[in-house]
Amino acid sequence: MEKVLIVTGASRGIGAAIARQAAADGWVVAVNYLRDAAAAAGVVAQIEAAGGRALAVQADVARDEDIERLFATVQRELGPVSGLVNNAGITGGLGTFSAAEPATMERVFRTNVLGLMQCSRLALAAFRAHGQGGVIVNISSTAATAGSPNEYVGYAASKAAVDTFTMGLGKEVAAEGIRVCGVAPGTTQTDIHATSGDAGRPARVAARIPMLRVGEPEEIAEAAVWLLSPAARYITATTLRVSGGA
Ligand code: NAD
Repeated sequence: MEKVLIVTGASRGIGAAIARQAAADGWVVAVNYLRDAAAAAGVVAQIEAAGGRALAVQADVARDEDIERLFATVQRELGPVSGLVNNAGITGGLGTFSAAEPATMERVFRTNVLGLMQCSRLALAAFRAHGQGGVIVNISSTAATAGSPNEYVGYAASKAAVDTFTMGLGKEVAAEGIRVCGVAPGTTQTDIHATSGDAGRPARVAARIPMLRVGEPEEIAEAAVWLLSPAARYITATTLRVSGGA
């Protein structure tokens, strides 16, 4: 059986790096994207040029019906799924909690938490259907344990929910040969900062990081792909910080 992996939000940034590295590690990769079909096709082309196999699939992980379609498409086109990286995530924009709209918080939790849970639910069903086990890696954030006051309080709370979900679900399904792990990146050089209205954030925070620099998407991907691999077979229900010491 080929190892089929779904990476959500994989058209750029950390998700794209995970998709490329996972393909190099032998996974057949479904590159999920929200809007940027050209970017997703670019990631697929990079994977194919390196000798791997990949498929771009549009789906909004904030919508349950899209997630159903994502899994159905991937299983039909690529085969049984045995890996999922819940990478898609949004901050909801920069600012204090007091200034944040309730609707924004709803969008953040629907994407970062409920969408991640629904993807995990369908992944578990897929793993159980083929009976060969499986692995889920949830992309959290160091914000989960820092709170991110005055910047991303709601986002940080959503990532704390992700960490607790990783711990609980990991324990719940461990005896079935299914692992659930997390990676918590520190500030990483991606477009998320510009999208959040704070393109200068990486340069500004670098001096506060013990290693005196922000992370690169490839450095986060290394950890995620290792957690997906048999080398991490005794690791579950835990989240690894990849943050230069932050
Ligand atoms: P990014 O904005 O470059 O990438 C996120 C991707 O998710 C985008 O391609 C976006 O289109 C996609 N996405 C957003 N909502 C979606 C939805 N509803 N359905 C499908 N796809 C959706 O950001 P990134 O930095 O690469 O972020 C990847 C993950 O890493 C996120 O979960 C983020 O919270 C986390 N993270 C990032 C940093 C950082 O500093 N960059 C730090 C800690 C954690």
